[in-house]
Amino acid sequence: MSEQTLTRAAVVTGGSRGIGRAVCTALAKQGVNVVVNYCHGEAAAAETVALCKAAGSDAVAVQADVSTAAGCKALFDAAAAAFGRVDILVNNAGITRDNLILRLTEEDFDAVLDANLKGAFLCCKEAARRMVRQRYGRIVNLSSVVALRGNAGQTNYAASKAGLIGLTKSLARELASRNVTVNAVAPGFIETDMTAALPEAVRAEMAKGIPAGRAGSPEDVANAVAFFTAEQSSYLTGQVLCVDGGMAM
Ligand code: NAP
Repeated sequence: MSEQTLTRAAVVTGGSRGIGRAVCTALAKQGVNVVVNYCHGEAAAAETVALCKAAGSDAVAVQADVSTAAGCKALFDAAAAAFGRVDILVNNAGITRDNLILRLTEEDFDAVLDANLKGAFLCCKEAARRMVRQRYGRIVNLSSVVALRGNAGQTNYAASKAGLIGLTKSLARELASRNVTVNAVAPGFIETDMTAALPEAVRAEMAKGIPAGRAGSPEDVANAVAFFTAEQSSYLTGQVLCVDGGMAM
């Protein structure tokens, strides 16, 4: 079976806004049909679907909380119903609950680990079953430069993103012989709702540490994701690509 002759289908978790929306649009521009997952933002997800359709691909929005096994199962069932197959999984959904460790609650630690790391594990499990069977797949996990450098006030978030790197490399080893690649993209400081929530002083301080002298755009990150999902990248697996204007080197 030549996979290039088929229209590929992707599941993008947290595709309703920010980096996830840019990933959905970039994949749609490559002719990939897209399942736009969201948790709360129904209207934003509908906007992403419209952008994918304008780019020439088919797309559907699917509400599911990826931090639960039931949510992930429902997401992949909906993807199968919409497009019959899942060739690409982008684990992009993520949250922050920042605090210094003495004030960080167990609840906030668990919430971040559940959404960012357990959600990716559950989606990988759903995807791997299908990808191994079809002997084809591309998985990309959204990590972060804080997984490599740490960040005061983000022990929970950094742990979840470092966990994703371990997950990526281990799963890459498990699935490589089945023509399924697993890679990670580690963004630096990207202009989205997530970083807009930071105080201006913190944003200015972070910008100072970026050799490129500017924050990145969601499209900068989406281009790296699309690189890993491209047909030409079939021999790339277990890699972590920083998209950070030089921040973490
Ligand atoms: P964002 O603007 O805050 O968007 C987060 C997305 O995740 C939304 O679509 C949200 O959906 C979805 N989401 C959150 N929890 C979910 C859940 N339990 N189930 C399903 N969807 C869920 O974030 P972003 O800045 O685009 O970040 C995207 C990814 O890149 C995240 O994993 C983040 O950690 C990572 N990252 C971002 C930066 C940065 O500078 N922005 C840097 C490094 C890494 P709803 O709105 O529908 O709830």
